[in-house]
Amino acid sequence: MTYDDDNIFAKILRGEIPNRTVLENEHVLAFHDISEQAPTHVLVIPKGKYVSFDDFAANARDEEIVAFIRAAGQVASDEGVAPSTGGEGFRIIANAGKNGVQEVPHFHLHVLGGRWLGRMLKKAEE
Ligand code: AMP
Repeated sequence: MTYDDDNIFAKILRGEIPNRTVLENEHVLAFHDISEQAPTHVLVIPKGKYVSFDDFAANARDEEIVAFIRAAGQVASDEGVAPSTGGEGFRIIANAGKNGVQEVPHFHLHVLGGRWLGRMLKKAEE
């Protein structure tokens, strides 16, 4: 799948759409999800043009991958949900492709926490 430069996160990275940033560095941007599903719901995205987790894993440089994983951990800590820094826990989700119900075709992690999140999956209902 080729990268679509018109996807909404590409527009956010170009500054064409506002966002509520919680962390930014050379390789990563993290911002509040516009439709929060938990008290903490932050999206972590690489600045590089990667469509999905598998694209990122296969094609990102080591430096980008390290920066990305460290940033996701930092977000969890900064949001107060990381167990290693006294938080009560969180979940990271990466939706990929049709069956993964990925809506925005720019790789992102959802960092969710701040409440009991229940079991990981229910039977697919929609
Ligand atoms: P996914 O289904 O994993 O692709 O999730 C895409 C997420 O992007 C959803 O949770 C949306 O609420 C979120 N989203 C869509 N547009 C924006 C936006 N402009 N700012 C922040 N989050 C957004």
